[in-house]
Amino acid sequence: MNAVLPGGTIGVLGGGQLGRMMALAARRMGYRIVVLDPSARCPTAQVADGVVVGTLDDREAAVHLAKQVDVITLDTEHVPADLLDELERHAPVRPGASVLRTIQDRQTQKQFLDRLGIPQARWAPVGSDIELAGALARFGGRGIVKHRRAGYDGKGQMRVEAQGQLAQVAQWLRDTPAVMEEVVPFAREISAILARGISGEVRMYPIAENVHRRHILHTTRAPATLSDTSWRQVHDIANSIAEALGAIGVMAVEMFELESGALLVNEIAPRTHNSGHFTWGACATSQFEQHVRAICGLRLGDPRPLSGAVMVNLIGDLWTHGVPPSWRTVLDRPEAHLHLYGKDGAAPGRKMGHVLLVDDDTDRALATAEELIAALTPVP
Ligand code: AMP
Repeated sequence: MNAVLPGGTIGVLGGGQLGRMMALAARRMGYRIVVLDPSARCPTAQVADGVVVGTLDDREAAVHLAKQVDVITLDTEHVPADLLDELERHAPVRPGASVLRTIQDRQTQKQFLDRLGIPQARWAPVGSDIELAGALARFGGRGIVKHRRAGYDGKGQMRVEAQGQLAQVAQWLRDTPAVMEEVVPFAREISAILARGISGEVRMYPIAENVHRRHILHTTRAPATLSDTSWRQVHDIANSIAEALGAIGVMAVEMFELESGALLVNEIAPRTHNSGHFTWGACATSQFEQHVRAICGLRLGDPRPLSGAVMVNLIGDLWTHGVPPSWRTVLDRPEAHLHLYGKDGAAPGRKMGHVLLVDDDTDRALATAEELIAALTPVP
């Protein structure tokens, strides 16, 4: 298959921050970018060569984009897979429809992992009141109910602690297809970020250690402090998922590590990932350049770390009535790199940007990250 070389055009479905950072990397390399998004002012459109305004299920708009580009990729996995099949007639879609079909429905994703024999939290489909009650009893009276589709950052999720709560859960679900997972008493959360190229070559970044707050990623430290055995297991699990999926591009596998050292896969994202933002600034090739290389059919770049790093997310809660915090707090620190995504509305829980601290002493960098967030947090 012919590679798409600089001068060629990449189409991106969805114009969020992942598309924006990929577009910045792609434009540096000499590619053109056209994005499909409902907003002409979305984060990716601000740095793109062209924008097609439309929702991600707008067939006509998506085909209009597909006809102008050499390869198509995604900013989100929540694009209808049938539409991707249709777009394939105009340009290669990477990752493709079959990958999305496996991933975008939590139940199909879990069945895929079960088939591969990859450990994950116990789970059950919960399509009726009886199934809800049965699953909760089986999981020791505590579970997390998650919509099968379209959830992210804790959206479409509800924690259940008692049978008495189930009427409330059923009302919340209102027949939306869902699964229940047992609550995992994890010691740590980690993620493997890797890329798979068109030839099947796989390159993996340093494993990242993640802390979430209110279900949203708060900090990532890389490299994670892992034993050699865990490190090998994470590599094996992530590699076998990448192989079995056959996805082209960057992919993330989020995992829980238990006190015993056992690993359970939480979820797979077939795209660049928030916990891989550290690679832009701390690795020889960022996950965004790597994704461009993979989808354009080029050899993958070197994922080697140049330094340890900590990334901390800047969430909309740091804004007061739409007014951003004082960025001098960040910019006055030589080791801190500010990334803002150009989003218009700062809502609580919305990812607005991040700070990357490049430092081999990741304990010190984590302490600095917390100090910065405390200084940026509005006084009530
Ligand atoms: P998710 O969007 O499913 O990745 O969930 C976001 C975050 O919620 C995870 O990174 C965990 O911190 C927490 N979480 C999700 N599922 C579970 C689970 N089964 N047990 C414990 N914590 C969970």
